[in-house]
Amino acid sequence: MTQINTVLGAIDSSELGSTLLHEHLAISSAGIPQVFPEFMDKDAASEAGIRELNAAYSEGIRSYVDVTTMDLGRDMAVVKAIAEQSKVHIIIATGIWLDIPRSLVTGVTPDQLAAAFVREIEVGIENTDIKAGIIKVATSEQGVTPGNELVLRAASRAAIQTGVPISTHTSAKAKVGNDQIAIFEDEGVDLKKVYIGHSDGTDDLEYLRGLGDKQCVIGMDTYGSGLNWEERTAIVAALIEQGYETKTALSHDIALSFLHVPEQERTAPSNPDGICLISRKVLPRLRELGISDSSIETMMVDVAKNLFEGN
Ligand SMILES: [Zn+2]
Repeated sequence: MTQINTVLGAIDSSELGSTLLHEHLAISSAGIPQVFPEFMDKDAASEAGIRELNAAYSEGIRSYVDVTTMDLGRDMAVVKAIAEQSKVHIIIATGIWLDIPRSLVTGVTPDQLAAAFVREIEVGIENTDIKAGIIKVATSEQGVTPGNELVLRAASRAAIQTGVPISTHTSAKAKVGNDQIAIFEDEGVDLKKVYIGHSDGTDDLEYLRGLGDKQCVIGMDTYGSGLNWEERTAIVAALIEQGYETKTALSHDIALSFLHVPEQERTAPSNPDGICLISRKVLPRLRELGISDSSIETMMVDVAKNLFEGN
């Protein structure tokens, strides 16, 4: 039993249910929501979020992790509006993605940045009492840059201090999950509370098993974009067959709104199912491939619960 911060307050980990661990309510860039509101339609973003989350709820989804950080334009007004009018538990993130503000890279220490993350987890974000429930970090195919190392070490220290898990963005092709794990281990992070995201960017099963063998969650979480969902589902089935069902998570990484392009369609034409793709297509395909309902339940429910609990 672990308390988890959601937008509407703390819930117990047993209340999570079927969970999408890597998604986005609305994306732009740092400062855009506050400084250039003409580039967005917050009402439309809120409506899209409520509509899509309620559709996902009707297909069994009970919790949704929005890993949108400040440098991805996290917008507290939109987050709050969607949480208040949808039935799904929404967990939001502190941390920093790839657009690390330059002044932070040259101006603060890992401990100082960790303290800011801890404040967003324990006190609130942007003068609200809404608290982050997860820490997001990102490493590109370039590997760990000085700015990225600052963020990874700060996230590690905030995770250790608060008990909150870390969720990462990676280039799976460049296997940078391993570089992230090396820093987490150096900092003493409990790897059972680490989720290595975008791991479905490769079909290298040896790399993927390695993440699971380190006790990290293998995030097969870009179902909403370009790559072939059927091929990816075959890899997921292979991971389950090889015993990694307790370490494999499925999510879409779909942004329900891109606030800088209000007219943009909310989902790619290639994926009319949006954040219901996994429940409508992927899970039935896994069953066709011989994966049991109990394995699917483990992936969709227990993996998220264990990540937050550190089990
Ligand atoms: Zn993402």
